[in-house]
Amino acid sequence: MKLVSTRDFSQKADLSYALLNPSARGGGLFSPERLPLLSEDFFKQCEDLSYKQIALKIIESFGFDVSSEIFESALRRYDKFENSACPVQIKKLSENAYILELYHGPTLAFKDMALQPFGALLKSIAKARNEKFLIMCATSGDTGPATLEAFADDENIKAVCLYPQGGTSEIQRQQMVKQSAANLKILGVRGNFDDTQRALKSLLADEDFKNELARANLNLSAANSVNFGRILFQIIYYLYASIYFSKHGVLSPEQNLKQSDQCQACGKNFGGAAGANSAQSAKFNTFDVIVPSGNFGNALGAYFAKKMGAKIGKIKIASNANNILTELFTRGIYDLRNRELIRTISPAMDILISSNVERLLSDMFGDARTSELMQSLARDKFYKLDASELAKLREVFEADFCDDTQCAKFIKQESSRGVLIDPHTATCFKLLDESRLNLVISTAKWIKFTPSMIGAIKGRACEDERADMIALSKEFRSDIPPQISRLFSAPQVHSSVVEQSEIKNAIMEWIKK
Ligand SMILES: *Cc1c(COP(=O)(O)O)cnc(C)c1O
Repeated sequence: MKLVSTRDFSQKADLSYALLNPSARGGGLFSPERLPLLSEDFFKQCEDLSYKQIALKIIESFGFDVSSEIFESALRRYDKFENSACPVQIKKLSENAYILELYHGPTLAFKDMALQPFGALLKSIAKARNEKFLIMCATSGDTGPATLEAFADDENIKAVCLYPQGGTSEIQRQQMVKQSAANLKILGVRGNFDDTQRALKSLLADEDFKNELARANLNLSAANSVNFGRILFQIIYYLYASIYFSKHGVLSPEQNLKQSDQCQACGKNFGGAAGANSAQSAKFNTFDVIVPSGNFGNALGAYFAKKMGAKIGKIKIASNANNILTELFTRGIYDLRNRELIRTISPAMDILISSNVERLLSDMFGDARTSELMQSLARDKFYKLDASELAKLREVFEADFCDDTQCAKFIKQESSRGVLIDPHTATCFKLLDESRLNLVISTAKWIKFTPSMIGAIKGRACEDERADMIALSKEFRSDIPPQISRLFSAPQVHSSVVEQSEIKNAIMEWIKK
């Protein structure tokens, strides 16, 4: 299986190439030529397998040019997650609502789900080719720590992380600036996340920069979700959830039920209920996923999983006050004119230029139309889908957003039931529909955002983050992981904050050292 450019399907690449060169010529992103459709048998067989085994089978179904052995060893990175048998946890929230916790990795955000194996993958490829790499990322808070953690102390790879100064939570910042491995460089950038991501994209396309790196024997790649290597691992947990729900009788078995028996709009079953041999009385054949979204990499994983056969009904896109995706999925308009990025209590979603939407457009409307829409966005800061395109989006997606006040309300509401949800996950709760089966995607542990949690739950300002963190963790019996307690006593290693125009020089100076 090859990957193709979102803007020109004749431009093809192997996975190993796209991992190292994430952006296609002419500005497109690499995305799979087509997605494998997994059979009912495949799903059934997976019910007896572990997460890692399922992941490997799914990856093998793509038929990429990277060997199973390399993938298998990359997936072993999940062994160091909280529960070494399974990196994710599914919990029941209420009668028809479940939560998929994706934050049990080393940096306590869902980014570890992809960046841990992705890091191992790049490491193997670099070693096999006897090449050295500079991996860059721009972060809105969680990609940075997860990237640094994925590459720390690797001898063939140097990693540079750019974060918007003041644009992340204090814990997220400390997770970066207290990294002591010599192969890592962290730069605060004056500006917001969109500025930082733009600076990264222009460096990735900068021939002078690449030549300078080449003289230092370094190839350049990126760890952001523009890299398909990230998306690949973000498809798996949605398929896993589908398998889990079938196995545990939360979803009704498929017998006697054809796709055509299913109402497109509501996902409900009008065929023979749950099938004659079903012991369970499960009411649902599909589940909706609710995804707190920014760069749209996580939600794109859900869309690809649905196309591969996961029993997903609607994919619901939750945003914060930066509700550009709400506008896209409800009105068919992507409009950057007169919009300023708003700083919210869910910083990892403070994004207006949502890179992975391009992969969705390309899958739904083709390369020529994607190219046209992306040109119009670059030129006019605006594009508008036509009515039939919007209708097609809405067959699969719904969207809504929460401002900080609503978000705080949901944090408090869930805390009164003894559950701590972080401010990103909280944006999902507006989209719950108790008449359907819901899966809330939980993207970070609350502990990265103590001041916002205290504001929401106690209605006061946080004066001492450590003291409040300890108090909340006692009250809700949610332990403080060692990687967080360690931060309080660790020294700050990185202190550079630079203008966007100074990034390139700062990196070259560090490399020449
Ligand atoms: C990155 C992130 C998101 C947004 O995910 P995208 O793939 O960029 O849409 C949401 N929540 C948290 C906690 C994150 O770190």
